[in-house]
Amino acid sequence: ARPVIAIVGRPNVGKSTIFNRVVGDRLAIVEDKPGVTRDRLYSPGEWNGRAFSIVDTGGIEIDGEDEIMKSVRMQAELAIEEADVIIFMCDAKSGVTHADDEVAQMLFRSHKPVVLAVNKVDNQGRMDEIYEFYGLGFGTPIAVSGSHGLGIGDMLDAAIEKL
Ligand code: GDP
Ligand code: MG
Repeated sequence: ARPVIAIVGRPNVGKSTIFNRVVGDRLAIVEDKPGVTRDRLYSPGEWNGRAFSIVDTGGIEIDGEDEIMKSVRMQAELAIEEADVIIFMCDAKSGVTHADDEVAQMLFRSHKPVVLAVNKVDNQGRMDEIYEFYGLGFGTPIAVSGSHGLGIGDMLDAAIEKL
C-alpha cells in the first residue's frame, strides 16, 4: 500500500487549499465509513517519483470553540493512527494560537514524523512571520502559500524525506 501523508491543523489554516495543490486534478475519494472518519478526503499523489496517499482532514464545517477543538483533536488522533508522516499546517496570518499548541503537543507525544508547514506566506516579505513557529518544536517551519502555489515542492520534499 502507498504510504500515507496526512494534513492536520485547525480550521481555516488552508489545509484543503494545499491538498488541492498536491492532488491537482486527480479525483479525491471521500471515505464512506460512518461517523467522523467521513470528514476526510483521500487522494493518490506523487512527487519526485514517490507515490503516496494524501489525506485532507476536518472538512465538515462546525461552530463553537468547544466543538472546533473537539474536532481538531479527533482529526489529529486519527492522523496519528493512520499516517506515516503528518504535515502540521499553521497560518502565518494568525500566528501561533492555543489550538496550534494543543495539536503540537498531541503530535509531539505521538513520536510520528512531523513536517511543520506555515501557510499564507504569500510573498517573501512575509518570511519574518514564520519565526515564531520554531517555538512549536518541530524544527524549521516550511513557508507555503496555497493560494499562490509557493513552497509546495519544499513541503513534499520534507515529507518524503521522513517516509
Ligand atoms: P482549511 O479549513 O484548513 O481546509 O482551510 P481552507 O483551505 O478552506 O482555506 C481557508 C481560507 O484561507 C480560505 O478563505 C482560503 O482561500 C484561504 N487561504 C488558503 N490558502 C491561502 C494562502 O496561501 N494565502 C492566503 N492569503 N489565503 C489562503
Ligand atoms: Mg478544509
